[in-house]
Amino acid sequence: MEEKSFRNYEALDVSAAVKEHYRKMRKNQTLAYVQEMHKKYLTFDKPMGLWEAMSHLNSLIDVSDPDLDLPNIQHLIQSAEAIRADGRPDWMQLTGLIHDLGKVMFLWGCDADGTSQAEQWGMVGDVFVVGCALPDSCVYPEFNSLNPDMQQEVYSTETGIYEKGCGIDNVDLAWGHDEYLYHVLSNHETNSLPEEGMVMIRYHSFYPWHSGGSYKALLNEKDATYLELIKDFNKYDLYTKSQKIYDLEDVIEYYQPIAEKYLGSGPIYW
Ligand code: FE
Ligand code: FE
Repeated sequence: MEEKSFRNYEALDVSAAVKEHYRKMRKNQTLAYVQEMHKKYLTFDKPMGLWEAMSHLNSLIDVSDPDLDLPNIQHLIQSAEAIRADGRPDWMQLTGLIHDLGKVMFLWGCDADGTSQAEQWGMVGDVFVVGCALPDSCVYPEFNSLNPDMQQEVYSTETGIYEKGCGIDNVDLAWGHDEYLYHVLSNHETNSLPEEGMVMIRYHSFYPWHSGGSYKALLNEKDATYLELIKDFNKYDLYTKSQKIYDLEDVIEYYQPIAEKYLGSGPIYW
């Protein structure tokens, strides 16, 4: 498929569900909501091994993705296999394999938080900064005004509650699977994924920044390096979506030693 045929939100066949997903996400993801989700979900008290977590993504289809109607585990394996086929480093292959694993939060999520199978607006989709103005580069920018924070004097300015040039490591992003997995792995004692991999995990859904070119007032020098990493990773996240179906069992043998090298062999605490 040609690159430009992906992420087409204007196409007539993009289901109304995608648009509705983004309406709810924009309306509900406020600074207060994000702070509450951090408290609620970053408890690191639920042990589950990597492969078990992966297998749970067999039953989740990402409603926000206009290009993919396969269980999420297929997307993860497709991404990893494309990175591997290009002869990229083992840590990057593993990053491809696990980058969306934060979606397992649907196992302990709920409709009210937008973290369930039925309501995914607190789990998937392009993220944005909370606590400052929403840029027009957000997908469906017409929904920006639905966000209650945009009625707040401070939250609705260009830099909002943040300092100019503070860097994206120091802002709060909409709650979702990127942020969740990033924190879970940061808390995981035997995690030795290189910083590059952690950046790819944390910011891959931050489209208004990495593809929209927004938030310039908040960026610092480090973010230019981050941008290179994300652009590199994004090729594999986006353009590998195909109908080729894999079996997790068939790829475990190859990825298991890499996973053990960077994550250890014990359970991950979610
Ligand atoms: Fe993702
Ligand atoms: Fe992905």
